[in-house]
Formats: sequence, C-alpha cells, structure tokens
Amino acid sequence: PVTRTAEIGASREKLPIVAEEQKIMEAIHNNPCVIVWGTTGSGKTTQVPQFLFEAGYGSHDSSTPGIIGITQPRRVAAVSMAKRVGEELGQYSGKVSYQIRFESTTSKDTAIKFMTDGILLREISQDFALLNYSIIIIDEAHERSVNTDILIGMLSRIVDLRKKMSSEDSEVRPLKLVIMSATLRVSDFLKNSHLFPAALPPLIQAEGRQFPVTTHFARRTERDYLEEAFRKVSRGHRKLPPGGMLVFLTGQNEIKSLLKRLHDTFRSSNRSAVDSMRVQLSASEGPLEVDDLELGTAEDADIEEEDSEDEDSEDEDSEVDFVGHDGEDEDIAFDIGEPVTASLTVHILPLYSQLPTKEQLRVFEIPPDGSRLIVLATNVAETSLTIPGIRYVFDCGRSKERVYDQSTGVQKFEVNWISKASAEQRAGRAGRTGPGHCYRLYSSAVYERDFVEHTGPEILRTPIESLVLQMKTMGLDNVVNFPFPTAPERSSILRAEKLLKNLGALTPTGRVTQLGHRLSIYPLSPRFGKMLAIGAQHDCLPYVIALVSGLAEGDIFVPENQLELNPKERGEDEVYTNDDRLEDSAREQRQKNYNRARAIFSKNDPTSDALKLLSAVCAYAYAQDGDAFCRQMFLRSKALKEVSQLRKQLSDIVRANHPQSIGPYLSRLPTPSPKQLKALNQIVAAGFIDQVAIRADLAPNPPISPRKPQRAIDVPYLALSPSSTNTTSGTTSSDPAIYMHPSSILSPLSPKSLPQYLIYSHLQQSAPSLITSSSSSEKQ
Ligand code: ADP
Ligand code: MG
Repeated sequence: PVTRTAEIGASREKLPIVAEEQKIMEAIHNNPCVIVWGTTGSGKTTQVPQFLFEAGYGSHDSSTPGIIGITQPRRVAAVSMAKRVGEELGQYSGKVSYQIRFESTTSKDTAIKFMTDGILLREISQDFALLNYSIIIIDEAHERSVNTDILIGMLSRIVDLRKKMSSEDSEVRPLKLVIMSATLRVSDFLKNSHLFPAALPPLIQAEGRQFPVTTHFARRTERDYLEEAFRKVSRGHRKLPPGGMLVFLTGQNEIKSLLKRLHDTFRSSNRSAVDSMRVQLSASEGPLEVDDLELGTAEDADIEEEDSEDEDSEDEDSEVDFVGHDGEDEDIAFDIGEPVTASLTVHILPLYSQLPTKEQLRVFEIPPDGSRLIVLATNVAETSLTIPGIRYVFDCGRSKERVYDQSTGVQKFEVNWISKASAEQRAGRAGRTGPGHCYRLYSSAVYERDFVEHTGPEILRTPIESLVLQMKTMGLDNVVNFPFPTAPERSSILRAEKLLKNLGALTPTGRVTQLGHRLSIYPLSPRFGKMLAIGAQHDCLPYVIALVSGLAEGDIFVPENQLELNPKERGEDEVYTNDDRLEDSAREQRQKNYNRARAIFSKNDPTSDALKLLSAVCAYAYAQDGDAFCRQMFLRSKALKEVSQLRKQLSDIVRANHPQSIGPYLSRLPTPSPKQLKALNQIVAAGFIDQVAIRADLAPNPPISPRKPQRAIDVPYLALSPSSTNTTSGTTSSDPAIYMHPSSILSPLSPKSLPQYLIYSHLQQSAPSLITSSSSSEKQ
C-alpha cells in the first residue's frame, strides 16, 4: 500500500474523482475502453494513474505488468504532472517518469509515464502493438488536437490488435484505453461505431469543481485588450489580497510587452527575467514543431475589428459583483478583502510553448517571500496545469488559433474569441488550490453573442494534404479508412493522396518518399513545399521563398476591373483620391500608369504570371515607403506586408532544417539571371505538375470549334489530367475546355502567339453562364 503524507491524503479526499474510484476501476476492468469525464480540478490527471498503480498496473508481479502511459498535449504539463503524482505516491515516487522531446526520466522501474502525445505517436511508429504498456490514458481529449484525434483512432485499433495477440499468445496481455475529458463534449468518441466497432465505451462521470470561483465580467469590451490587461492587473495588484495571478494572453509578443510594463511599474523581485528571457527555440535545439510556428501573424497586436461599443448593453444586471455604478465599478469588483500593503513586490513569469520547458517550469516554484506571483500565459495554461497559489485569473477572452485557407493552402494563426468552454476552463484555474476570482476583460454581452460553445476539432482546420502526409510518415497507409473521431471528407482525402503522388511525395503505392519527408516540414500546401524542397539549384532558394510567399498569399495585384472603384470598395485602407468618380482624363492617366506598372513587373519574363508576381514581391522589398510604392504600382499593401512576413518566416524554417542550403536572410535580392529565371519557371512547373493544359487545337482529338477565337481569352485549352483539377465550385461544366483569365499576363497577346502549353494555379467556374468557364493561368 502507498503511504501518503497526511497533507496529501487530506487533499486527495476532497477530490470528486476519488469518490468514483471503485466505479472507474470496475469499468476499466470490464471494458477495453472507458471514457472519464470530470470538470477541471476534479482530480482526473493526478488520481486516475494512481488508482491504476494501486490496482497493480505497471507492477511486474501482476497480471498487468505493462507501464501506465498518460499523454498530455503540452510538454510543461507532462513534466509538472509527473512531478505532482510522484509526490503524491510517497515511497513510490521513483516509479513516476516523464518523457518529452529531448528529455526523459524513464528507467526500468518506471510504472507511470507521462508524455506528450507526439512522443506516444513516435513510439507507435516503432512498436505498433505498444507492448511496453498495459494501459494508455489520453488526457485532455476535449481539446481535440490533431495528435489526440489521431492517437485515439490508432489506439482503438491497437486495443483490438492486442486482444487478438493475447488470445493467441498467453505472454501478451490486452491493452486498455482510457479517454479523459474535462467537458462533456465527448459524443464524437462515445457514439462512434467506426471508432469502436465492437462495443461503445461507457462514460464515467465525476462532478464538482473543487473551490468556488467568482466570475466578474467587464462592463465594456475594450479593443486594446493588452492595455486593458495592464490596467486591470495593475489595479488588481494594488487592491487585491495576497494570492497569485494568472493572466491569459494570446502570444509571446504580448506576454513580453506586458511583462516589461509591469516590471517597469512595480517593484519586482525578478527584474533580470526581462532581459534574460529566452523567446525562441534556436534552430540547434532541433526541428521546429508545428506548435512553434506562428505563420501569418508577425505582431500579436493584430486585433480583429470588432464591436467594442457595448456600453449601452444590459450588462449591469448580469454583473452582480459590481455594486455601484458611479464609474468606480471596477474598484468595487476588486474590493473583496483586505487590500495589499504597498510593500508587496511582484514576481512575474512568462509561460508559453516556445519557451524552453525549464523556463516554463519556473511557475511551479514558490515565489520569494513578500511577493505576488503573476504568471503571463498563453492557453498553454488553460488545461492540465495546477499552478499553486493562483487565486486570480485575468482572461483576455482571445486566443491565437490555427486557421486554414482552402484556396491558397496557407495556414495562419489568427487572434480570435475563445469558446465558452475555454472561458470556463480559464476561470477554473483560479479555483485549483482555494476559492478564487476570474476577471474577464470582456462583457457578458460579448460573451453571449460572440463566443461559440465549443471550438471544433483541429483536424477540420488542418490542411488535408499535410494531414495525409503526416499520417503517412507515421506509417499509416490507409488514411481513407482511418477511424478518425471526426473524419475529414473522404473525397478530399483521396484528392490529397492523388496530389501527393503527382508531386512525388508518395510512391504510386502510397508510401512516403524522401521528397515527401522533406516537404512535410513546411506549413504550406505540398505544392509550395515541393517548390522549396527542389529550390536549392542555381542559388534560387531565396527567390523561391519570395515566390512561394507571394503565391501563398494570393491576390497582391489590384485587378484591372477594380481600377474604377474607390479604395474602400476594393477593400483597401489607403485613399487614392477623394473623388469617387474620376474625370475622363484622370481615368486615362490612371490606366496608363496601371499598364506601365504591369509592364515593369513583366520585364523579366513577359509570359509568366508567376515571375511577374516574384518581381512585384522583390521590388516591394526595395521600396523606402511600402504604402506609397503600393499605391504607385497598384499593389495591395496589406497583402504585401503579409508576404514579407511569410518570406522571413519561411527563410527561418528553411535555415532551421537545412542550414547549408541558404545564407543569411536578404530581403533585397539582386535581379535573377536568365539561368535562374529559367530554373524558377521549371520549379513552378514542378509544383503544379498536375495542372498543365494543352492548347485545344494541338490535342490528339481537338474539339471542333465553331469559329476562330478573336481574343486570347477565347482560346480553348484542355487540362492534361482533368481529374486532379479542383474547381472552386466543385462542379464540372459540360464544356471540358478551360480558358485563360483576363488578368493573366498572356491575355493581351494575339491568339496566334499563345503558347502550346499552360500551367495554371487554379480553375474558377465563371458564373452565371456555363459557356465561358475560365482559368487563371500560370504560364510556363
Ligand atoms: P483534473 O485533471 O481533473 O483537472 P488534477 O488531477 O490535475 O485535476 O488536479 C486535481 C487537484 O489536485 C487540483 O485542483 C489541485 O487542488 C490539486 N493539485 C494538482 N496538482 C497540484 C500541485 N502541483 N500543487 C498543489 N495541488 C495540486
Ligand atoms: Mg487534468
């Protein structure tokens, strides 16, 4: 039996999950898979592994000798939970280990192993039957990360496999699976007979949060939530009784900036933290994880436009804690006890996933005497973690989320409202070790109106080609029939496989090639990944990076048919002129300027839209005043700013993975040589190898055209591999021919001088007539 300290014993007794021990253990005994639901703080993560340990799991002389494995979505959670469970296990503390990237404390004594889900995925690829384990616990399954979903799918099959193996070989024991969730949104697992064909798993519930948390909504939702966080945390520190603070922000830049301001404002016990703060993993620390990339947002302060004017809303009623209405309401919300004496210093620590794990773990250390711990965190701290002594949570209500643009294949990270479920999780952090308060930096009206109930599974926001490639690199051959908790569309999986084969990332039988492994590192459509992977010839890589950034962004040119519109209507912020209507002469002048700008960008290769784009991206980098340059050259400045960020980030990724292939980042590149231009055209062609069209009159069976085309855009082309072309609308018109888009560099040419082959970036069904479907073309 485990001998626990009196203190631990007493705190365990209060945990709701402990009352359910017998029920949980019986369910695990009688079923191969069990789902455990208990709100945050009910004791799932710390207690369930101990129940299992005490029942003999992980012990050599039992019928369940294999290790107890528990996955966590984040490194810092794996380490800190292993530590806590070790402490609770008294004389058996040496039996608890953790393993994260680059770090492991496992030994032959290990009975309980905490690890990130990435580690378990890798172990599965080495031993698919996971013979070292007797039971796997997937924790925080409600987060629905891609890794968690894939793990659950795989484990449902591994459980079957182990059952079969054990019936054939008495040496092999069956494997158990426990899925743990902090929200009741588990029906994707519970009612999924594809996932659990034999029998649906039972659900065991443990209710009740440990300590009460009082929630305070803001009266107003300020757009500048960082400023608001500074204001409220400062005021809170002055007014609130002792107790740690946990502040939820969206990213490391915000955290850094608030950290600095708080340090500058208050007497700080760890001033050196500001200067010594490590912000980014260096390339030498190993390959970047998707988690570590923040593509698409250079500044965290990129706040979405939102309605922040809800002063007049009916908020007051819902804010029971705000007693007065004389403008001092916030002070009253903070008036919950003896205020702090001015002598209390602050001990401020950052917490975000790019921070080295060792630094992250500092939040668990006891802060210096006479100081208040203030942790500034991303949603790393939203689940799993118990930071001792946290009494106050400040929640900005936003998080940085992965969003994926189907049409360009780019994934970005955007700041958006969190879900109501996340807001509850965040508030719950204030009640882990005592009663607490949660200060929300948004009004209850915004919460009700703009917060969704739950965030959908990440897998549906992930580029499907990247997902397929990732699964294939893990050795999963049959992605289409994989038992996803929430499956992406079958047809899009098949289309992705086909594209990956066309690009040479998969063999015809569906195995990952060397090229496939190389391009799996880029957070981009595999087309662009391939262009980067083969881009190192003739010193082309910096150009390929610039080109891919431009292609990924999409529309950087102001289209000709929008010249007449005023900038607002075009979706631009900058103002060209105050007159909405231009005089004829001015219009003429503008058209002239437009043509001149296009001609300048077309100089390098008058037949390639891709190189025209490259010229524009490269020229922008030379401009002193980017916005003025964009106005003058009819470019969309917002888009080009993003392209510049992407260029820099892609360069960093390439350098981190292949330092020898690329020099230091140069935004201003020299004009490419003719040899390089040729290579660049070939690289584009390789990325779009399945999107080649032949001029219809040269096809083996040319369609009979009623009359001779007068304009380039009327000349029919035929796609060489029609099945792989995905029209935006997904429909196929009766006319198999495709036509050049009027915005193409080739459209002013005479029909006679059009090339025999075209490479196109995408097809677009032109509404409403079926007669003129058109294609935007990237000419080779
Ligand atoms: P769950 O996984 O259900 O959210 P946990 O098992 O992580 O809950 O934690 C249950 C409780 O155990 C916490 O609410 C807290 O009171 C206590 N606890 C967990 N970790 C620590 C720790 N490091 N220090 C102090 N108390 C802790
Ligand atoms: Mg937990």
